[in-house]
Amino acid sequence: MRRIAIVGGGQAGLPLALGLLDKGYAVTVVTNRDPDNIRNGKVMSSQCMFDASLQVERDLGLNLWEADCPTVDGIGLAVPHPEQPGQKVIDWVARLDKPAQAVDQRIKMPAWMELFEARGGKLLIQDGGVAELELLAASHDLVLLAAGKGDVVKLFERDAQRSRFDRPQRALALTYVSGMRPAPDYSRVAFNLIPGVGEYFVFPALTTSGPCEIMVFEGIPGGPMDCWRDIKSPQEHLAQSLNILRTYLPWEAERCGAVELTDANGILAGSFAPTVRKPVMTLPSGRLVFGLGDAVVTNDPITGQGSNNATKACAVYLDAIVAHGDGAFTADWMQRTFERFWEYGEAVVEWTNSMLMPPAPHLLKLLKAADDAPALASAIANGFNHPPAFFPWWRDDVACDAFIASNAARAARAAA
Ligand SMILES: Cc1cc2nc3c(=O)[nH]c(=O)nc-3n(C[C@H](O)[C@H](O)[C@H](O)COP(=O)(O)OP(=O)(O)OC[C@H]3O[C@@H](n4cnc5c(N)ncnc54)[C@H](O)[C@@H]3O)c2cc1C
Repeated sequence: MRRIAIVGGGQAGLPLALGLLDKGYAVTVVTNRDPDNIRNGKVMSSQCMFDASLQVERDLGLNLWEADCPTVDGIGLAVPHPEQPGQKVIDWVARLDKPAQAVDQRIKMPAWMELFEARGGKLLIQDGGVAELELLAASHDLVLLAAGKGDVVKLFERDAQRSRFDRPQRALALTYVSGMRPAPDYSRVAFNLIPGVGEYFVFPALTTSGPCEIMVFEGIPGGPMDCWRDIKSPQEHLAQSLNILRTYLPWEAERCGAVELTDANGILAGSFAPTVRKPVMTLPSGRLVFGLGDAVVTNDPITGQGSNNATKACAVYLDAIVAHGDGAFTADWMQRTFERFWEYGEAVVEWTNSMLMPPAPHLLKLLKAADDAPALASAIANGFNHPPAFFPWWRDDVACDAFIASNAARAARAAA
């Protein structure tokens, strides 16, 4: 029986561990938080996952909350008018072809860890560093490091060619609330872009106390939404969240008349630099460690892709490990496996990074044109499920103009 070790029990590591167990591998997971510590700790993410990623979880039998978690049925974009308070210069919404869902990682990870042990996996609660990686590498056929944003992942070399930024691009905050008035017509990620200030998006989810809404704040560094450092209590965090909405997004503030925090741990603030790392690490002994998930590709949450990426990477790695049979897990195999994921992941990174920059003129035109062309709005909304679909028109102004024109013509024909 082949032995595989995974350091990091998160959205990338645990589905891979459970998938490998299912295929008959002996799997060890080393992770630094036990289930109760996660359950009773702070929220870690907003973890909205789109259908293609949810399908990976369904295929692995890990969709344990599908019936209980509220669905996210669409995506909307609003941009406030710069001179007329309360007015919008862009305002559209489109349905997702298939719903998205966000299950609090404080629910998911403990349950998957317990499932992993119940199915015969070996779970060790400890910090993985070089010494532990060496021990695992000496006793396993393959060691993966899926430790998210943990310090240990800095052992992977930063890939300067694939990393556009070397510092955080947004000041991030999460606020989990109950009591928010639902969006009209159908549930959605209500995405608001405030030029020069940052972004705010909100969507329904399932948390430890039941259904909730997750508010996500993305403040441009040094700007008025980069405002979380001096917050001292969960109630102050909530008050700051509501204050931002009243100042910039009154239509979102109106939904919040009766909101309360879901729990004192339903808040988070921080920042990190989006980074791509080289996926193969050589330990002092010469043995190898292979990177997975955020450990090697960390995106800003502005497009809600990290958990989706981690899950899709997990599916690619699982297939590659099984297809490799009894072959040796060489550096060349690791690099080829990562490149198979990167064929998809590169588009996610390019699109996500573009959202962190002032929008190019062709993108402004596209986002505005979607106001009058439902097919454009639909293409943008459904691109979140499969970001390679944004290309070439997201990058290329000529292709973008042609894309706008063909969809605008379609909208005109439909209206005639
Ligand atoms: C504010 C915010 C909002 C987000 N919103 C979304 C969203 O809406 N949609 C989306 O798809 N993604 C979102 N993400 C990103 C998503 O949460 C991550 O991309 C995803 O969790 C990555 O999975 P992972 O398994 O690689 O890492 P993680 O989920 O971070 O798991 C890593 C695990 O490794 C453990 N660990 C760390 N160091 C060590 C060590 N030395 N030894 C042992 N164990 C260790 C950690 O405790 C953790 O359990 C968001 C992230 C943030 C910060």
